[in-house]
Amino acid sequence: MSNVAKKKPAAKKAAKKSPESSPQGMKQAILDHLKYTLAHNASGATKRDWWICISLAVRDRIVDNMIKTQQTHFEKNVRRCYYLSMEYLMGRMLVNNMYSAGIYDEARKAAEELGVDWDEICEEELDMGLGNGGLGRLAACFLDSLATLDLPAVGYGIYYEYGLFKQAFENGHQIEMPDSWKMFGTPWDIVRPEYTQTLKLYGNVETQFDEKGDPHPVWVNTRTIQGVPYDIPIAGYDTKTVNFLRLWSSRSSEEFDLDEFNKGDYVEAVREKAIGETISKVLYPNDKTENGKELRLVQQYFFVSCSLHDIVRRYFKNNEGWDGFADKVAIQLNDTHPAIGVAELMRILVDEQGLEWEKAWEISTKTFAYTNHTLLPEALEKWSVPLFEKVLPRHLQIIYEINRRLMEQVEARWPGDNWMKRDLSLIEEGHPKMIRMAHLAVVGSHTVNGVAAIHSELLKSVLFPSFNAMYPGKFTNMTNGITPRRWLLACNPKLSKFIDAAGISKDWPKNLDALKGLEKFADDKKFQDSYMKIKYENKVALAETIKELCDVEVDPNALFDVQIKRLHEYKRQHLNLLHILTLYRRLLHNPDLDIAPRVFIFGAKAAPGYYLAKTIIKAINSVGKMINEDERIKGKLKVVFLPNYRVSLAAKIIPAADLSEQISTAGKEASGTGNMKLALNGALTVGTLDGANIEIGEEVGDDNIFIFGMEVEDVQKLDVEGYDPASYYHADEELKAVVDWIGSSYFTPDEPNVLESLKHSLLDGGDPFKVLADYRSYIECQDKVGEAFKDTSRWAKMAILNTARVGKFSTDRTISEYADQIWNLPPVPVK
Ligand SMILES: *Cc1c(COP(=O)(O)O)cnc(C)c1O
Repeated sequence: MSNVAKKKPAAKKAAKKSPESSPQGMKQAILDHLKYTLAHNASGATKRDWWICISLAVRDRIVDNMIKTQQTHFEKNVRRCYYLSMEYLMGRMLVNNMYSAGIYDEARKAAEELGVDWDEICEEELDMGLGNGGLGRLAACFLDSLATLDLPAVGYGIYYEYGLFKQAFENGHQIEMPDSWKMFGTPWDIVRPEYTQTLKLYGNVETQFDEKGDPHPVWVNTRTIQGVPYDIPIAGYDTKTVNFLRLWSSRSSEEFDLDEFNKGDYVEAVREKAIGETISKVLYPNDKTENGKELRLVQQYFFVSCSLHDIVRRYFKNNEGWDGFADKVAIQLNDTHPAIGVAELMRILVDEQGLEWEKAWEISTKTFAYTNHTLLPEALEKWSVPLFEKVLPRHLQIIYEINRRLMEQVEARWPGDNWMKRDLSLIEEGHPKMIRMAHLAVVGSHTVNGVAAIHSELLKSVLFPSFNAMYPGKFTNMTNGITPRRWLLACNPKLSKFIDAAGISKDWPKNLDALKGLEKFADDKKFQDSYMKIKYENKVALAETIKELCDVEVDPNALFDVQIKRLHEYKRQHLNLLHILTLYRRLLHNPDLDIAPRVFIFGAKAAPGYYLAKTIIKAINSVGKMINEDERIKGKLKVVFLPNYRVSLAAKIIPAADLSEQISTAGKEASGTGNMKLALNGALTVGTLDGANIEIGEEVGDDNIFIFGMEVEDVQKLDVEGYDPASYYHADEELKAVVDWIGSSYFTPDEPNVLESLKHSLLDGGDPFKVLADYRSYIECQDKVGEAFKDTSRWAKMAILNTARVGKFSTDRTISEYADQIWNLPPVPVK
């Protein structure tokens, strides 16, 4: 035994501070990877080489625990949660993995001793951007909490070669570029060729007779595709549990090629191979709507079929017979994207395993649970029957059989009620008929949850009232959250250290409610000053990023007013823009107007085919350019749109935000999670009573949040009475002025009329998200925000109380609720 090891006191984290994880051990591991993995010496190493080697050295330490974890789960034959999601917005992995493994200080020290610039190395890592926005980021936060809570879980998804597109601006217009994030590989994946799955697509269904003369449907003339799994280790924080995310990459199958080879058309056969490889090629870039694309359906089926077969394979490693399946397996459907899994599991059980329908249905419905993420009607997934029949003919039959039995139940419950049958049917009548994937998910699951209290209530009262009548108790709520490891500990190290030093408990990263202990300092002037000094330093750092990315200079003393989220009409970035124009116009009329100087900060990608969203981006950029260059307003307003919003950029903006814009039309934002990240980092919310804003308000208190605008009932009332945006426009001089202004060519003289469609959408277009109805209330609320900001002590108190009181929004709380109430999943500590 070495002296070094013996001399160390037996601390709590003793296991982690083993010699291999000391700075010296880390240094050696990094150099070994440089030499033996990359075949380099230190003098020739690039920044990217260092990033890879540091990542691999960190990964090695995580992999030890991953093997231990999987061994433990196998030996104990534990119940597991399988999380099925088409998207995972993981962002960068290195720093979070270092914190989780408890080796941040050691690894950083090792790297710095090797003479590398730490911040530059971290910037080398490309985001793993395999998601669009909130839904994919939620899945990533869930994986973090599952591992941290020692819950046995596997995430399943698609290993997209291209994640969400990269965004740039050209003359203020969004342009998209491919995100070839793993062009040169990534240090975080582990390929598992031995678990490759083969699956079928297309073809037709024939009846074949077995040896007893009984008929069976058989899916024939299919094309086969292979799925190769890549595992990403998911290390829990301050625990040995390491779960994994298993992502499927598509390949053409050898079987299929051989056929063509035999016909002698070698080149055609190789060209055909490319079709198999397109399935996992690219993430569809629409946040809420992705309509009817065949490849999208193929993607969904591809990853669901691979995952279910993998789950079955894993089950039979340890178990015999199907009776115990639902005791060992809980499957969560993240939105309807994997809802085809209901039909696929039935097909596996009935067609492949020969179970009776009733038995198979019992197993299936005990296994699945479904999370709904939206009430927007255009976002509810439907597939046309003809397309479905072409791609998945056997699944169509199964869905019809599920529906036939459902309709029998409806008839038994509400005899002769055809309205009820139409309302509940999995099939929507029309030309063509459509399959309602949400209905399939509801019928095939034991539990359906919304993602914030109000959203879950609206699920029952507005979206699925008939299902709620049919299955009382099936619908429940699981309010979303965020992982405090990424969204405070790692992204805001200054605030984290300050909290650690405040003398409240140090275990807040695992017990976020402990931040309540900060409440007692909210009125303490010294504490306020220190807290706001950290905010100021974070703003200085963001100001540098803004200078780099936008070439605009901003004053860190100004109010940093932040709206970062996908660009969508329901999120109402254009309402924010109307406020900017209002302030600008007021200043032009009175340059000495005493307002709190503001920097408006936007980050948002628009779906490439969403023209109005792209016009809003152009409008913000054009207005911003004019305001930023207008010396008459003496720098009191600045507007910046940071390009290429993504997780790593969010992590830089959020610690520097004073104000968090959460201004969706009431009833449209299911939960929001950006609102939680910002509040935790001490930004005050200006928001509507929508999604989780309501619960944030309940936690922080009415005095510490700025609420404005219509509530859900007001919006519903307007919808019933008929909403007339023009009446608001004509009744409010300031509103009319700014709407006319943005609709003119004033801000885009070189591109006349490019912003016209924006004004049109608000008037002739019917203003579908009721921007004009909330305008005046928003402006009045923002006036109060500006006044509050001038009172620095009051503002500091409010900000501190936000950090102190949002412990509820840790995904540790969310996941504990899922584990207790939906999955019945006990933790399994790893020794
Ligand atoms: C948190 C997050 C989102 C979700 O933001 P909302 O404001 O809840 O819509 C979207 N994109 C990224 C990169 C995020 O980190």
